[in-house]
Amino acid sequence: MRYANHVVDLVGGTPLVKLNHVTDGIQATVLVKLEYLNPGGSSKDRIATRIIDAAEQEGKLAPGGTIVEPTSGNTGVGLALVAQQRGYRTIFVVPDKVGEDKRNVLTAYGAEVVVTPTAVAPESPESYYSVSDRLVAEIPGAFKPNQYDNPNGPRAHYETTGPEIWADTEGEVTHFVAGVGTGGTITGTGRYLREVSGDAVRIIGADPEGSVYSGGTGRPYLVEGVGEDFWPGTYDPAVPHEIIEVTDAESFAMTRRLAREEGILVGGSSGMAVVAALKAAKDAPADSVFVVLLPDGGRGYLGKIFNDTWMRANGFANAPAGHTVANLLA
Ligand code: PMP
Repeated sequence: MRYANHVVDLVGGTPLVKLNHVTDGIQATVLVKLEYLNPGGSSKDRIATRIIDAAEQEGKLAPGGTIVEPTSGNTGVGLALVAQQRGYRTIFVVPDKVGEDKRNVLTAYGAEVVVTPTAVAPESPESYYSVSDRLVAEIPGAFKPNQYDNPNGPRAHYETTGPEIWADTEGEVTHFVAGVGTGGTITGTGRYLREVSGDAVRIIGADPEGSVYSGGTGRPYLVEGVGEDFWPGTYDPAVPHEIIEVTDAESFAMTRRLAREEGILVGGSSGMAVVAALKAAKDAPADSVFVVLLPDGGRGYLGKIFNDTWMRANGFANAPAGHTVANLLA
């Protein structure tokens, strides 16, 4: 009989699939890595497993322990999944702007959610940061993964995502493209691919227009999970060869095209990474093999990117239904 002993054993080993339609006019092969096929639905399952393993080994988490993290998204789901398997309590601190559906996913996995007001200064005792720090200080046996500064994030990608891409492409990968949030994905995967290939793989980061990685200051953008207004410890700027800036309009139009034309329902940061990859692939020789990491699925964005009313209300009414390479570069 072939089965996993626990759903956590199914983290990683995600497949590559070729893009066939949005790549019109491009000679190179463009493959996407489907991280939504992880059991918690995103690439963050990988780091949750690695972060909790390391905390146990370092004695920071012991039976009866509690994981406290300010997160509302994919990292929370990954941590909740692994924590449940190992018998830890999880408490996630989320700002009140986070929608009910996202909070409900966390509680469905057995996590506790503490909601903090968005409209207070970071130093206020009620803020997102202050509340999580206070919970860690006051709950005995509490551990804060701190995903923006935890080296086990990039390490998870160095140990799993990178080797999977190298093995599945039989060493033929020439370019790796990923969006940058904490920077863990690009740092860990990119470092591995550079090392294993003798520096032959080109590493390309995709960043929302306005974020620090592409020279901005963190001007608000709507794509979720990527871009920052500070430099996290999990990002090594020496790993990417290049950062390509992408607008929300481009990211969202491509996200919709991936669903409609490729049958791939993913989130906005995936659309963003594909836009960056196509810009880089436009002039690449035919024997190039691009691998683009798609971090999560599209079901969490049905009320936003896939909702015409939301798109219009946010100024994307004139966003083209899709991009050709020509108008991407116009
Ligand atoms: N896309 C989404 C939807 C994410 O949740 C994240 C993680 N913040 C990323 C992209 C970026 O990954 P990383 O943090 O490894 O840079």
